[in-house]
Amino acid sequence: MIDNKNRILVTRSSMPSLDEYIEEIRELWDSHWLTNMGKKHNQLADELKKYLGVTGLELLVNGHAALEFTIQSFDFAPGSEVITTPFTFASTVHSIVRNNLTPVFCDIDPDTYCLNADQVEALITDKTVAILPVHVYGHVCEVYKLKEVADRHGLKLIYDAAHTFGEKVDGKGIGNFGDASIFSFHATKVYNTIEGGCVCFSDEELGKKVYFLKDFGIVDEENITGVGANGKMNEFAAAMGLCNLRHLKEEIDKRREVIRRYRKNLSGVRGIKLSPDYESGKVKGMEVEFNYAYFPVVFTDEFGAGRDQVFAKLAENNIGARKYFYPLINELKCYEDMGWSAKEQTPVAYDISMRVLTLPLFADLALDDVDRICEIILSAGNSGG
Ligand SMILES: *Cc1c(COP(=O)(O)O)cnc(C)c1O
Repeated sequence: MIDNKNRILVTRSSMPSLDEYIEEIRELWDSHWLTNMGKKHNQLADELKKYLGVTGLELLVNGHAALEFTIQSFDFAPGSEVITTPFTFASTVHSIVRNNLTPVFCDIDPDTYCLNADQVEALITDKTVAILPVHVYGHVCEVYKLKEVADRHGLKLIYDAAHTFGEKVDGKGIGNFGDASIFSFHATKVYNTIEGGCVCFSDEELGKKVYFLKDFGIVDEENITGVGANGKMNEFAAAMGLCNLRHLKEEIDKRREVIRRYRKNLSGVRGIKLSPDYESGKVKGMEVEFNYAYFPVVFTDEFGAGRDQVFAKLAENNIGARKYFYPLINELKCYEDMGWSAKEQTPVAYDISMRVLTLPLFADLALDDVDRICEIILSAGNSGG
């Protein structure tokens, strides 16, 4: 039987107190305005613009919808190519394929696990229209290099910034890089609106297009001029977002302590590779204000136990780590017919996907539990016997 009380899952959604949420939604019982760009929706959009330090922002029902509508808003010709990473959540690549575009996989950087900016250019063809990198785990892509390549070839640069809510690069909100950046406010992310997401942009026309697509392509009651869909965020989700935003700094501070503890316990262990330490200074030449979204650990051969063994040992102890991101997207069953070969096309991503484990991380994870998780991991390897 599963011991739910002592079970530690990989994440735990942040929530305000019940009283605070009830206070926030109380007025909905007076207005009876539950969705369709209501007061909470608009207030949240304004507050997020300030928080993220961006000029343009459109809220959506989830992060995936933000990606799909944003890509659609560019009106790329069907069959055009989009260079992206296989080391991500399925949503990234599904959003390309569902827009009738062809994903082209670029390998990842061995330190940040983000798209390798030095390998993008070699993949550009006369069909390429965009680059879609992912700031995976909250690690930051080489934004300056990617912009330079995109500009030189006249390509759009669309970031899947689902993991980087609130981060800053060289003092600037991360939503300001590229033509568009999308964020996810899913329950499992650093900041949540239960389900939700947004796209950030500087070109107002792009924002208008996304708004139009999220609202069925409606111009006015008698004019529907586009084949849009429904991507609107409802008032209850927006209210949750307003509450959670008040406590976000506190939540991130607590996450920082959890990660510091993990680092203290696991740094320097033979066979364990940790992700870049953004607190220790510049990474890839960029000063990053990190959001402590994920804590991935990579087990090299020297560790003496494989990733799957460590995963099983944690599971035996009621601890739920996750194999993010395994399998790679170019290995998913739904893309079996595409003839992709992860091992050949993206060998670094393939290797990392076989070795990586993301450890439990949420604001209220007790530091004693972090110690216990680390002890179990160490006992699986050589050093623990
Ligand atoms: C969560 C996530 C998404 C999708 O966001 P949803 O809000 O769950 O739709 C897209 N890309 C990445 C990398 C994600 O982690």
